[in-house]
Amino acid sequence: MRIDKMLANLGYGSRKEVKQLLKAGAVKVDDLVVKDAKQQVDTNIQTVTLNGEVIEYKEFIYLMMNKPQGVLSATEDNACETVIDLLEMEDQVYEPFPVGRLDKDTEGLLLITNDGQLAHRLLSPKKHVPKTYFAVIDGEVTEADVGAFASGVILDDGYETKPGELIILKSGIRSDIKLTITEGKFHQVKRMFEAVGKRVVYLKRISMGPLPLDETLELGEYRELTDEEVQLLR
Ligand code: URA
Repeated sequence: MRIDKMLANLGYGSRKEVKQLLKAGAVKVDDLVVKDAKQQVDTNIQTVTLNGEVIEYKEFIYLMMNKPQGVLSATEDNACETVIDLLEMEDQVYEPFPVGRLDKDTEGLLLITNDGQLAHRLLSPKKHVPKTYFAVIDGEVTEADVGAFASGVILDDGYETKPGELIILKSGIRSDIKLTITEGKFHQVKRMFEAVGKRVVYLKRISMGPLPLDETLELGEYRELTDEEVQLLR
């Protein structure tokens, strides 16, 4: 990456201001003063300092958020707060985006990254990455629903879903369930329950692929994935 872009991304000023820092000899790469804004640097193998202080820069950022209700899974919106608005500025400089979408009223595990390849792989219909949801259903969820979901249900647009694993945690006039699906159609969980005549009144994603939601995260909080967690997703 160009040194001026890297420093500007990290918030050390506009490209113009960064150019002035470079001109003033404040920036070194591996102990050599660099004045050329176009100089390419790779912080994996080179050390960049600004006024003697080492600059940390990573190409990719991987975050897990416990998404709250009322916030959009988008990078920007004119009217509504987005999950990116909830990030610290120092994380926003990496220009991350949410991996797929949760509805505005859905809570739970949302991955946020700037690694387009990883996001693409996780979302690819060919990969069948399982996603597990906890939901509260208005109505009594029955073994017949478990069977229907296991064979696939027909959504309102005629699409037949792939099998989903439905587990009844509590059955009554309001039921608690866990549902694992390997697709990501628009409003899929809500529409699967509509297909069996029931309504989702609360929805929370509790895992994506091998990653469970870190339950120590309060709603709206997030943390970086560990290297091991990133490896699991690969
Ligand atoms: N299914 C839904 O209906 N909504 C979500 O947010 C995620 C899955």
